[in-house]
Amino acid sequence: MDETIKMADAHAHLEAIPAFKAPPNFTIFTCGYSHESNVKNAEIAHSCKNTYASLGIAPQTAQQYANLAEELPKWCDFIRKSKPVAIGETGLDFHWGKTEELKERQRTCFGEMITLAQEMRLPLVIHCRDAYKEVLDVLESHSPLSFMLHCFSGNEKDAKRAVEMEGIISIPPLPSAGRRKAIREVGISRLVAETDAPYIGKTPLDVVQSIRIISKELEITEEEAAEKTCENALRFYGIPGDVICQT
Ligand SMILES: [Zn+2]
Repeated sequence: MDETIKMADAHAHLEAIPAFKAPPNFTIFTCGYSHESNVKNAEIAHSCKNTYASLGIAPQTAQQYANLAEELPKWCDFIRKSKPVAIGETGLDFHWGKTEELKERQRTCFGEMITLAQEMRLPLVIHCRDAYKEVLDVLESHSPLSFMLHCFSGNEKDAKRAVEMEGIISIPPLPSAGRRKAIREVGISRLVAETDAPYIGKTPLDVVQSIRIISKELEITEEEAAEKTCENALRFYGIPGDVICQT
């Protein structure tokens, strides 16, 4: 694809890729998962063009804190002050949270992040693993909420339920049968492309592979898949389209 096509990586972790420089046709949403990574990502979004931060506390982080109730207020204060474009990643991860105690910590944190998103009128970036039913139940009980299921790993029913609740689905550069079905189920208007770099893609440039997966499945050109997923990401995060590609 040529370098004039606008692309958006809807979810990456730039604090873990310090040498990365984004090309001018790219918009990148860099995502925190702990207080420490929120501090770094807020700073990166402040100093890099076409780069925006989503800040939140992930379930895998939350479950590590027995004193979560003490820590959360100061973590939330930092998020408020940093003016992110979304709250997250947050959610539930029962792959890592095996015991009831760990699950409860995750639920407490998820609830606080939803309250913060409502207070700040921001969308939510959801991390969910082996917990789709509960995550969607929680989101539904607080609806209407704007949310993105990052690195979608549910089934087509979960995808359908999410978009019926005004959610969007984010596709990483890793094909799977479940994701292919979900792409067909929800269609281009409810999809964004991400890399989760450096954990799935190496850098946000690998978003081209996520775009390719979407274009193949929907039988549309890569250019169209790139443009539409970029527009969808900018709309979801509340970024006006004309601010990108300034040089
Ligand atoms: Zn991530």
